[in-house]
Amino acid sequence: MARDPRYDSLFEPVKIGPVTAPNRFYQVPHCTGMGYRYPKSEARLRGIKAEGGWGVVSTQETEIHPTSDISPANEARLWDDRDIPALRAVTDAVHEHGSLAAIQLVHNGLHTANRYSRAVPLAPSDVVVDSDDPVQARAMDKSDIKAFRRWHVEAALRAKEAGFDIIYAYAGHDMSLLHHFLLARHNHRTDEYGGSLENRLRLFREVIEDTKEAVGDTCAVAVRMAVDELLGTEGMQHDAEARDVIEALAELPDLWDVNLSDWSNDSQTSRFSDEGFQEKYTSFVKSITTKPVVGVGRYTSPDTMARLIKKGQLDFIGAARPSIADPFLPKKIKTGRVEDIRECIGCNICTAGDNTCVPMRCTQNPTIGEEWRRGWHPEIIPKLKTPEQYLIVGGGPAGLEAARALTQRGADVILADKADTWGGRVTLESNLPELNAWGRVRDWRVWQLQQASNAEMYLNSSLSAQDILEYGIPNVVLAAGAKWRKCGQGRVHRKPLPFLDQTCVFTPDDLMKKGVGVIKSKAPVVIYDDDRFYMASVLAEMIAAAGHKVVFVTPSPIVAAWSENTLEQGRIQTRLIELGVEIIPIKQLSGMDSGAVSLKCVYSNQTQTIECGSLVLVTSRAPEDMLWSELKGQEACWSDVGIKSVMRIGDCLAPSLIANAVQSGHAYAQAAGYDEIPEVKREDYGRV
Ligand code: ADP
Ligand code: SF4
Repeated sequence: MARDPRYDSLFEPVKIGPVTAPNRFYQVPHCTGMGYRYPKSEARLRGIKAEGGWGVVSTQETEIHPTSDISPANEARLWDDRDIPALRAVTDAVHEHGSLAAIQLVHNGLHTANRYSRAVPLAPSDVVVDSDDPVQARAMDKSDIKAFRRWHVEAALRAKEAGFDIIYAYAGHDMSLLHHFLLARHNHRTDEYGGSLENRLRLFREVIEDTKEAVGDTCAVAVRMAVDELLGTEGMQHDAEARDVIEALAELPDLWDVNLSDWSNDSQTSRFSDEGFQEKYTSFVKSITTKPVVGVGRYTSPDTMARLIKKGQLDFIGAARPSIADPFLPKKIKTGRVEDIRECIGCNICTAGDNTCVPMRCTQNPTIGEEWRRGWHPEIIPKLKTPEQYLIVGGGPAGLEAARALTQRGADVILADKADTWGGRVTLESNLPELNAWGRVRDWRVWQLQQASNAEMYLNSSLSAQDILEYGIPNVVLAAGAKWRKCGQGRVHRKPLPFLDQTCVFTPDDLMKKGVGVIKSKAPVVIYDDDRFYMASVLAEMIAAAGHKVVFVTPSPIVAAWSENTLEQGRIQTRLIELGVEIIPIKQLSGMDSGAVSLKCVYSNQTQTIECGSLVLVTSRAPEDMLWSELKGQEACWSDVGIKSVMRIGDCLAPSLIANAVQSGHAYAQAAGYDEIPEVKREDYGRV
């Protein structure tokens, strides 16, 4: 298909110093959880981004020296020449598709405790590191500053040797030494590197100049800088010091890549921000420099992208998450397939991969992180040798993805759901406060299925084991989901609680399906959260907004503890406090009596009783496995009726993240037609 001429501007080449990007799609540096530990996976992932049309493809942050060791996170490394081949594999994979390869060099300064190398952390001043490690950094003296400048030059030369076209000096996210020198709260020096802004930016300027001198003949030198930290006068602000920094260095680098700091501000989830949320902070940069400017903001709409270029607000559309959710986003715009873009939902399951030190995963794109080890491709999936019929029961994320990928493989698919809308839990959850974008998981898949001639889709179709046996469709896939438990069983309470008064106990399913109106009592609503991710906090918001007094009880020391991995914990806790939700941490349930619940400290035997008109339990989910049990009970007659296999996928196998349900559906479709599940390759780091 021909591309819409409105988007022509997005495909113009742009010069960056001595190199030229083939278009305006710029995959900014982002972590993958692979880095130096999984180099083949890393190279393949970046190569696929280039194949998908990103004109510039960057690495994640790349440590330049053992004093910048962010173990156990899997970032990239250029500590010495031995790290060059792994990065050469990345640039080769990117160049194969005509894109430019960029590398973000970093010294983590006071952001790391150097857990592996055990080097003493370095910082502008004598301060504690910003992780929880009981470790301090030492103030760099002049010889340390000289050494750091040399390490940066050596790393830049290695990056050039590895084939990179764009080399970054990085002053962002409160994670880099150059940023630490810039920021008055970290830099307490009294010499020419501290005090006035001119002094604090001296090292930044020197490093940009050093890098240009070392590699600037053939490589572009980019700067990544946070122009606001959302800390008010405590931090860098876009309309104060950040403007002065950019004015002072305006023409020095070949490209400005500007964003917010820290990472939780830069990668805000859709629950807390909309597409383009950084514009008000970054839009001033173009008016100060003639050099190309890259900005991000979870852009997935080509209209918005074209508007930004037309307005002269950006030269490149920067993206991390939209390029993860759909590595082929640029190519889809280029070939007039805008409807096929798989839009990022802004959930940050991708950041959770990096934050838990494993290769990334994505709710929308089940192939990310699996390109090398499973050989999965985001757009291509081999056809079945012998197309067969598949019956999929349940059209939630698992069933929809299995159906979509199976139709892509050429199978005849019948998808049935007892509900009157598609999407299962995704539809229910996307109706909760601020989770609307999650509906994209459903919408993209339903759209793809509607385009396929080999998919039949039936809503309002509750299937029983008898129905399934009567149909006799050879391959049966159960994707019936799970339901929230009403008995309190979860992490802390491993068995059902005997004392619950079921007349005033509610689950997330009750609230999502019937609305807050199910809560009739005017007495306080106690939400007991042992799930520790987003659900309880979203319900707390919803119930508080309906005018109820809400008490949030959790065995954890903080609200929604796992959401630290999705960079949301601080915002969630703040929002609940601002809504007047009372938070009672480190408590488990120990009793329930008319109008009250008793709580027990998880450390001691101290107890307390609080008023409770309604109790909402957010603890764990039970798989919907009745169909499975019934069918299993009749396994002996499967072959008589023509059934070859019955499999469970997604939450009805084991309740988990939406991302895992999608991945489960995709894995089923990938394995279909093979006698054995295809081998998962290993990168045997550490094997002798
Ligand atoms: P998952 O996350 O594993 O995809 P969901 O709970 O989101 O699970 O979706 C499961 C879907 O299965 C729901 O839409 C539900 O209506 C549907 N479903 C459950 N049991 C049946 C059944 N017996 N027949 C048809 N649809 C079913
Ligand atoms: Fe977007 Fe979520 Fe995928 Fe991250 S995991 S890229 S936020 S859809």
